Amino acid sequence: MTDVELIKSKIDIVTFISDYVLLKKAGRSFKGLCPFHSEKTPSFIVSPERQSWHCFGACATGGDVMTFYEKWEGIDFLDALKSLAERTGVVLQKYTASSEIEQKEKIFSINRLASDYFHYLLTKHRFGEKARQYLKERGIRDEITENFSLGYAAESWNSLHKFLLKKGFSQKDIHDSGLVIRSDKGSYYDRFRGRLMFTLNDHRGRTAGFSGRKLPALRSLGGGVPPHSEKEAKYINTPETPVYIKGNVLYGLDKTREMIKKKQQAIVVEGEFDFLASFQSGVTNVVAIKGSALTENQVLLLKRFTENILLSLDSDFAGNEAAKRGIDIAENAGMTVKIVELLEGKDPAECISKGEHFWKKSIEQAVPIYDFVIAQAFRKHDSKEVNGKRKISDEIIPFLAKIQNPIVLSHYIKKCAGELEVTEESIESAMDKFRKIKVLPQTLREETSLKRSRQERLEDHFLALLLQSEKVHQALESSLAIVSTDDFREPAVKIILSLLQKYLGEKKKFKIEELNKFITPEMAPVFDRAYLADLSSISDDKNVLEKELIKTAKLIKAMSLRGIINDLSTKIKVSEKEGRPEDAEKYGGQVMEKLLLLKEVEN
Ligand code: ATP
Ligand code: MN
Repeated sequence: MTDVELIKSKIDIVTFISDYVLLKKAGRSFKGLCPFHSEKTPSFIVSPERQSWHCFGACATGGDVMTFYEKWEGIDFLDALKSLAERTGVVLQKYTASSEIEQKEKIFSINRLASDYFHYLLTKHRFGEKARQYLKERGIRDEITENFSLGYAAESWNSLHKFLLKKGFSQKDIHDSGLVIRSDKGSYYDRFRGRLMFTLNDHRGRTAGFSGRKLPALRSLGGGVPPHSEKEAKYINTPETPVYIKGNVLYGLDKTREMIKKKQQAIVVEGEFDFLASFQSGVTNVVAIKGSALTENQVLLLKRFTENILLSLDSDFAGNEAAKRGIDIAENAGMTVKIVELLEGKDPAECISKGEHFWKKSIEQAVPIYDFVIAQAFRKHDSKEVNGKRKISDEIIPFLAKIQNPIVLSHYIKKCAGELEVTEESIESAMDKFRKIKVLPQTLREETSLKRSRQERLEDHFLALLLQSEKVHQALESSLAIVSTDDFREPAVKIILSLLQKYLGEKKKFKIEELNKFITPEMAPVFDRAYLADLSSISDDKNVLEKELIKTAKLIKAMSLRGIINDLSTKIKVSEKEGRPEDAEKYGGQVMEKLLLLKEVEN
C-alpha cells in the first residue's frame, strides 16, 4: 500500500466530510450543500461505497478525501498528505515534492524573510523613522505593528533584492515572488520602495504577499533616489504569483478567524488601516478586502467560520455593482448580510479616530441588507413624487426579487408598499416583471457554461443508467449489442466501458468494492458522475431504467453512424474530385451499409 492508500484506508469519507458539510442520507449516498460554490439546492454527493465526493452543480468536479481536504483548506497535495498523515497516525515513507510545490515553498520563505526585513527596518532602523512617525500619527500602537508584522521598504532600488540574494535565493525565485521587477534592460529592482508595508498572510498564516502604502510628503534620502511622484498609487500590491491570488486573500483572517468563529460574525472592512484600527479598538472579528470587490472565494472562505457577515464598505453601494455581486454571492451561499452605517467618518479608521464607541455603536446598529437598500433608496429619491417612486422601486426590486423566504419577502413587500403608498400587488407584479427579464439570460449562461455537447451528455447518461442498473452484467450485454465502445466519443467513457467488459467477463457479478481498485484517478470523476447521478427523476422502476438504457444506446449509435456517414460523404466528394471513381464507389457502398444500420436503430 502506498502512503496515500494507507491514509485513505483509515478515513471514512462520510464521517470526515461530515465535520465540514452537513450531509443527509440520500439513497446509497449522502447529500449536502456544496462547500466549494454557492448554492441553495444540494448538489454535493458523498459516496461511502466509492469513498468519493462529487459536485453535480457549478463545480462539476469531485474526488477523494485527499482532494476534498486540499480544496477545503486551499492547500497542495503535499500539505494535505502531511496533515492527514498526522491525523491518522501514518508515518510517511517517502515523498518527493513536485517542482510546483517546491517553488511555492520557496516563495513563502522569501516572503517570510522579506516580511522580517521590512519589519526590522520599520522598528529598529533609522530609515524607518518617517514610517514610524506616520503610524504614530494614525494612532497605531506598537503591539499592532508587532502582531501584524508591519514594515517599511527602504527608499532604495535594490536593498531588498541584495538582501535576498545574500540569503542564497536565486534570481528566478526572487523574481517569482513578485518582490522585484525586471526592467526592459534585464536588470532587477525592488517593487516596494519607501513605503509602509503590510504583510498579507493567507488564512493559514503563510505570507502570500505584501501591500505597500505611500508615505505622505516624502523627502528624498541621500543617494539620488527620487521621491514619490504624485501619480504613484497610494497602495501597491504584490502581483499575482503562484502563492498570491488577489481574490483569495482576506487581510488579517489568519489572526482573527478564531474570534470570528467565536462571535459567529465577521465584519468586512475595505482597507488595511480600517482593519488595524478596528482590531486595536477591541473589535477583533474583522477582515479587510483591500479595496476590491468581495469575491466568491472570499465569501466561501469566511463561510467556514461564520454565516453572518457585516459589511462596512463604501456607503454608496446600492449603486455599486461590485458590492451587489458580493452580497449576491453571500446570500446565495446562505449567509446573512448586514450593513454597518458609520455614525462618524468616511471609513472605519476615521470613525474610530473620532472615538472607539462610535465604531462599536455603528456595529451594534447594523441593519439587514434589505432594510439598508430600502432606506438608501428612500433617502436618495422623493417618494412623494411619481418619478421618485419609480426610481425607488427600480433600485429596490432587484434586491427583493432575491429573497427566498416567503415570510421575509412578504414583510418587505408590505413595508415598501406602505412607504410608497402603493398596493402590495403592484410591487409583486413589478417583481414578476423583473424576474422574467432575468430568467432567460441566466439559463442561457448555464447552458454555455456547461459547454458539453449533446453527445457527451448522452454518453454520461448512458453510463449512469448502466452503472445504476440492477443487473449491470445483463445491461452491459444488451446495450453492447447495440453500441460498441468505438461509438463513444468521451475517452474516459470508452475506458470505463472496456474496463467493465473485462471485469464482468471474469467476475460475472458487479461489486463496486472490487471494481474500485481498477478505477484510476483519471476515470474517477466520470465514473462518479455516472455512478452517483440522480436518476430518480426518470423513475425508480427498474423496467423503465432498462428501457431508457436501450433508448440511449440507440441514440448514441445513431449519432455515431451519422458521424461516419458524414465522413464517408466527404471522402466520396474528394475521391470524385481527384478522379478516383472506384474509391468513390467503395465509399458509396459503405454509406449504404451504414444507412441501413441507421434505419434499424432509429426504429
Ligand atoms: P488610508 O486609510 O491608508 O488613507 P483608505 O483605506 O482610506 O486608505 P481608500 O482609498 O478608501 O483608502 O482605499 C481602500 C483600500 O483600497 C486601501 O486600504 C487599499 O487596501 C486599497 N487601495 C486603495 N488604493 C489602491 C490602489 N491604488 N491600488 C490598490 N489598492 C488600493
Ligand atoms: Mn482610510
